Amino acid sequence: MSLKEPKIIDGKALSNELVQSLIPDIKTIIDEIGRPPALAVILVGEDSPSQIYVRNKINKTLEVGMISVEHRLSSETKEKSLLNLIVELNKNSEVDGILVQLPLPKHINEHSIIQAISPEKDVDGFNIINAGKLATGQSNLVPCTPLGCLLLLRHTLGDLTGLHAVIIGRSNIVGKPLAQLLLAENASVTIVHSKTKNISQITTQADILIAAVGQAELVKPDWIKPGACIIDVGINRIITAEKGKDKPQLVGDVNFSEVAQKAGFITPVPGGVGPMTISCLLRNTVVAAARRNGVEIKIK
Ligand code: NAD
Repeated sequence: MSLKEPKIIDGKALSNELVQSLIPDIKTIIDEIGRPPALAVILVGEDSPSQIYVRNKINKTLEVGMISVEHRLSSETKEKSLLNLIVELNKNSEVDGILVQLPLPKHINEHSIIQAISPEKDVDGFNIINAGKLATGQSNLVPCTPLGCLLLLRHTLGDLTGLHAVIIGRSNIVGKPLAQLLLAENASVTIVHSKTKNISQITTQADILIAAVGQAELVKPDWIKPGACIIDVGINRIITAEKGKDKPQLVGDVNFSEVAQKAGFITPVPGGVGPMTISCLLRNTVVAAARRNGVEIKIK
């Protein structure tokens, strides 16, 4: 492998492969229960990135032949009303997965909402029961973005045993669950975060470096080991003079053009982790539908 020609990891292609691989299982579920898996998506308010994410998730759900149940609520929605909707969806036997798009308006307690989702329908894998199962190595629904990162890594590097993975960011939705997944793959895992001293001394030891921070182009070439595999989770919108305010440009947490010169493998933004997140959501919905209805499928 030449260090001057890093391999760009094609998240779109792998995501399409994953979606295609779900089709036989969706057919099995239709044969056994008389309907495809159904995902309920709740969006509260008008946050524009969230609207785009929800639209993409719904389109992909429908494209693969599953049912999408959409709930768009006003930003004034009271926490109690949202909780009531979740209770109703938990009870509804025709709904297999429930996704509440985050972030929620400030007056709503995200933690209470996530905990209200039945663990068996928690396709985002954020519920405490599913987080605890992940930490203790039990079968569960795994958060979509970390699962997408793991599938990209397995596809690119194969066996991860003994590799040193450094994760920048310790959030409950990306950094922490990803650390659990990589430990289960026998990688050695270090998490660094906003309070870590001398971050680059740690990141330069990484065979695998995952950036999940939310700061545009934070990771520079002197943060990485030559030949390392770089996974960029960050999605940052920057305003350029060229495109103007209405068309922000998407960039990751990694300075792609410079880091790509030194990396062995690197994911682009967009087209890397993002598409994998959506296909893992579909995967989790298929898994939830199969488990809830006692249907044997190939995907575990
Ligand atoms: P978060 O804000 O919850 O967590 C950010 C983490 O980064 C924190 O743990 C913080 O300690 C750490 N951090 C902040 N500044 C730092 C610094 N200077 N150095 C080192 N660490 C620092 O964010 P999140 O929800 O985990 O999301 C992170 C990024 O990933 C965001 O850009 C988000 O949009 C993106 N994201 C992408 C997807 C996807 O599908 N591609 C999914 C989820 C999140």
